[in-house]
Amino acid sequence: AWARIRGRLREEVGEVEYRTWLRQMTLAGIEGDEAVVVLPTRFLCDWVRSHYGDRLRALWQQENAAVRRVEVRVGPQRPAPAEDGEEAAAPTRETATRRKGLAEPLADRSSTAGTARSADPRGDWSAPLDPRFTFDTFVVGKPNEFAHACARRVAERPATPGFNPLFLYGGVGLGKTHLMHAIAWAIRGGENGRNVAYMSAEKFMYRFIAALRSQSTMEFKESLRSVDVLMVDDLQFLIGKDNTQEEFFHTFNALVDAGKQIVVSADKSPSDLNGLEDRLRTRLGCGMVADIHATTYELRLSILQAKAAAAGVDVPNGVIEFLAHKITSNVRELEGALNRLIAHANLFGRAVTLDGAQEVLHDILRAHDRRVTIEEIQRKVAEHYNIRLTDMSSARRARAVARPRQVAMYLAKQLTSRSLPEIGRRFGNRDHTTVMHAVSRIAELMQADAAFAEDVELLRRMLET
Ligand code: ADP
Ligand code: MG
Repeated sequence: AWARIRGRLREEVGEVEYRTWLRQMTLAGIEGDEAVVVLPTRFLCDWVRSHYGDRLRALWQQENAAVRRVEVRVGPQRPAPAEDGEEAAAPTRETATRRKGLAEPLADRSSTAGTARSADPRGDWSAPLDPRFTFDTFVVGKPNEFAHACARRVAERPATPGFNPLFLYGGVGLGKTHLMHAIAWAIRGGENGRNVAYMSAEKFMYRFIAALRSQSTMEFKESLRSVDVLMVDDLQFLIGKDNTQEEFFHTFNALVDAGKQIVVSADKSPSDLNGLEDRLRTRLGCGMVADIHATTYELRLSILQAKAAAAGVDVPNGVIEFLAHKITSNVRELEGALNRLIAHANLFGRAVTLDGAQEVLHDILRAHDRRVTIEEIQRKVAEHYNIRLTDMSSARRARAVARPRQVAMYLAKQLTSRSLPEIGRRFGNRDHTTVMHAVSRIAELMQADAAFAEDVELLRRMLET
């Protein structure tokens, strides 16, 4: 159970956050109704308790209803047994779960018995909602404004024709779950106290399997059909699980026919969800389909500003711009990076600076600049200024080659996470002070000369895309 909980947390928070905060967490044991989790330092304990405490408790509850509390304390680390080798173990377990699902419920009794036992088909349907995922904390920008507007609309007036079902889709970490929780919070908090059921598609399947096993499918159907709003997250999980899809399809139809709202999320649009039955895809697509696009630089800036302000930490604009430039994958990663910076600032009582950020986030940044290499920068810049590539490393000092070389060094510093000495080495074994000088010289020139600044920005954009 503990391994599953860790696996789930890891999926939910993303690799960066997991590695920063949770990797060293071990289970000391279960004392009465309390699970005791230990970490090596007070600081880590405080952080994990305040940021993941509720989630840990909820996950424990799902695994083992007898556990009502989770205690996080400082304790000795056990000399990492199999469980802590989760680097390799987690993906395996993950695949095991997948396969289990693919094998489909009825056939394989033994493998799903563990999950089936704890599930009560008539029990409370809703998974716990994350208190941080509300409309108030959702930052709106071009890539998500349409999805956000649809979500608002459904939250205000569920089951409005044209918005039912609401199908939200987009890549990982772009805010689908956040928006779904926000809708659920808003509707639950509303005056007429509607009955909202939110769950992952995975949970839907486990409940369904449990009901089949305990021959309580009638109760299962009834409990589901009595909700006013049904929200199912990550529907792509049902690909290949034909029995569960079939059941979902019937539930879906019954609810829509009864004038109830359905909200579904997935990583692709209905028409791209290959492996989902055609009739289900068709029905999913006939309400409102809203796409959450990849983040833009502007949205990343706003999100970072909002999150820094919410944490009450002063993060200089330069650092925020730097992060927004570098961490382009998704909001979860961006958040993870910012949280780490904030934690370091709190831990050491130091102000957040650009240099500090580069150091603290070294591993994350490196993972993000695999795309731009120093060679590419040199090539592009040489091309742009019409000089030979070899002059990037040559000893020539004529302005016509020295300036482009400085620009390339500047861009190497900005766009990669290589250190100054490393950059120097790649430019004909120059000293790190030469690189440092180049970086500040170019920054100065950009300040003084708008046309030059534009030129450098153009190069940067070309390299980044
Ligand atoms: P998904 O479900 O699409 O994989 P999530 O909803 O779990 O992504 O979002 C990942 C993290 O990013 C969450 O912590 C969420 O709060 C945050 N996030 C995503 N989009 C936004 C946004 N527009 N404003 C604020 N936070 C966001
Ligand atoms: Mg999600």
